[in-house]
This record gives sequence, structure tokens and C-alpha cells, in this order.
Amino acid sequence: MKFEIPEKMKAVVLEEYGKLGVTELPVPQPGPGEVLCKIKAVAICGSDPKMIDGHYADVHWPPYFPFVMGHEWAGQVVALGEGVTEFKVGDRVAGEAHKGCGNCANCMSGHYTVCLNYGKDGHDGGADKGHRHYGFYWQGANAEYNAYKVAALTLIPDNVSYEEASLCDTAGVALHGVELAGVTPGGTTVVFGPGPIGLCAMQEAKAMGAGRVIMIGRGRKLEIARKMGADICIDFEKEDPVARVLELTGGVGADEVMECSGANDSPAKACQLVKKTGAVALIANYRDDLEQVPLPLNKIVFNEIKIYGSKANPGVSRAVLKFLSDGSINGKGLITHTFPLDQYEAAVDVFQNRRDNCMKVVITPEAGEPGRFVED
Ligand SMILES: [Zn+2]
Ligand SMILES: [Zn+2]
Repeated sequence: MKFEIPEKMKAVVLEEYGKLGVTELPVPQPGPGEVLCKIKAVAICGSDPKMIDGHYADVHWPPYFPFVMGHEWAGQVVALGEGVTEFKVGDRVAGEAHKGCGNCANCMSGHYTVCLNYGKDGHDGGADKGHRHYGFYWQGANAEYNAYKVAALTLIPDNVSYEEASLCDTAGVALHGVELAGVTPGGTTVVFGPGPIGLCAMQEAKAMGAGRVIMIGRGRKLEIARKMGADICIDFEKEDPVARVLELTGGVGADEVMECSGANDSPAKACQLVKKTGAVALIANYRDDLEQVPLPLNKIVFNEIKIYGSKANPGVSRAVLKFLSDGSINGKGLITHTFPLDQYEAAVDVFQNRRDNCMKVVITPEAGEPGRFVED
């Protein structure tokens, strides 16, 4: 199989904070250990509008302008760099944002999303230690093509579409947190926040043997959680989730809690409703001001509550793609909109402002008109 690869490609770039543009860029050349991929689908992440608006300036996302964002993608291998034997041209792959250096103590123990050589990718003329953070610190997928290190790629099962596979990141972020907190077989798992990550965490906890999953949220998203299989839904605007969970567990508390809401009072509530020795995974992002996220420290100490910070999606892509393949995760049910590449700005607007009951918005660089993706 051979693909005609043009010299130039269409790309959406962040020209400066708050300013997007559609432009032509050279198609990247795959280096040693890299493959060139044709981008078929790239989902908009909650972090993308924040990066556009400059919320990550202090961590240098992006590190330069103009910058190609986009990290939740799936596509097809169209050319191989030197020495690549892991993939062949024509393979369908889903990408990860993080590729660790592979050599530091954290990478050596599998924790490559917290690589100790973060950002040492040579883009600034410094040493290239092999670290990549695609779409954040290194050119991403909001384009027709991009080159990737093979370690950032996983084969997509045949029955999973590119659009569904672009959820590999979202579902993986959820699964990493679920793995850190663990799932008690037959037990009670609580999920805060029925957004895309929370809905994935809920479905994963069920697939991994939770006896029942309780979703805490409100409004239409809580209804979607109910439709997607939440055993019990608690609307925090109508009842106190802590009291309700304690009531449902005979006063004992939940076995584990997946905090996916990002609301600043949710971590404290999670600690109040988890059982003694229970686990809380923090899978969301919070406002940096720690005073805004108070925690019941003595309760955590006296009850030996385990709290896990969960960063991105290390080592879980194969599992989430399997979950998307066997229906454990309803990928189609999470994608509400698709847009072509040159309507990226409109897509971000729909996503950021939650227009038209939007849940997950996917850019399809090869497609024409925008559309509703789901049956409903
Ligand atoms: Zn993401
Ligand atoms: Zn490393």
C-alpha cells in the first residue's frame, strides 16, 4: 500500500492567544522511529479552549506561535520513518498526547505522563531527550497530517470508527484514574461529573466489576448518565450527595470515588462520602488557588483515605480501544457533533459554550459539512 503524500497540508494554528487561523504548512517528515499519519478524526478536549485563551501560559502551552494544537486523534499510517517495524502503511491508529523520554526513572516505571525530561524535545535548540507532548508542547493533530513516535500509537480494532477512536484519550484519562483508585468487585463506585470523562469512568467502572455506579451531577448530562447505565443518579441541586451516598451504603460510604467534575468543592465531598480506607481519584483540573479546594485533612488521616492525582492516560490505550470495540464504552453516544477542519473555530464555540446539547465534538479533516453524529 502506498499513499500519495503532498508537500503542503491544511492546518489550524493558534497564531496568538485567542486567535486561530487556517493555513498551509509543510507536511512533516517522519524521523527515525516515527510514522507519518493522515489525521482522520480529532476530538476537542476541555483543555483546548483553555489553551486558546491563554490559561496555560505559565506552563508554556503552547511553547511557541503559530502552534498546531489537537491531541485526541485517530488516523492512518501513510509513511514510515527509518527503522519502524511496529506499524505498516495503511494501519489504523489512535494517538496519545504523551510520549515519554523512555529513559528517566518515571518512564522506566511506566509513569511516562510525568516524565522527568518533560519538554526536552529539542524544539528550542536544546537536547532532544525524546520527550513529546503532542498538541501541547509539540505540533499536534489539528491538520491533515502529523508525524508521531511509534510509542504514542495503538492499533484500532476493525469495528471502531476513527471518530470513536478519537475518544481514546478521553476514555484513557478516565481509565487511568479508575485504575489508580481501583474498582471493588461488586462494590459501590461514585463518579462526580457526567461530562465525557465522567461518563467514560462510569462505564469503565461497570466493565471492571463495580456492583453499582452512582453518578453525581445535574440536568441533562445527569439524564445522559442514566441512559448510559448509571445505576443511581444524584442531582446535587436537589439533594445532598454526601448524605444520600451514606444512606445508600448503610452509613459506610462508597468503596471508591472518581472525581471528574472539576468543581472546587467536589474533592472534599468525595472524602466525606468514601468509606474508611476508600480511594479517591482526582481526574479533573481545578483552579490553581488551593484555598479554593479545601480538604477535610483530619478525616483523610483518621479514615486512611487514599487520594490519587491522575495525570493523562499512560498505558491504557489498548484497554480503552477494547472497551470501545466491545461496547463497554458507548463511543457513538458521547460524540454529538462533527466539523470539517476549516470550521474548527465554530466547533470550539459549540463545544466551549455547550451549544445544541453538545457533549464531544470531533473534527474530521477529510469531511465536508458539519453534522450531528449520533442517533439520539
Ligand atoms: Zn484531552
Ligand atoms: Zn522520561
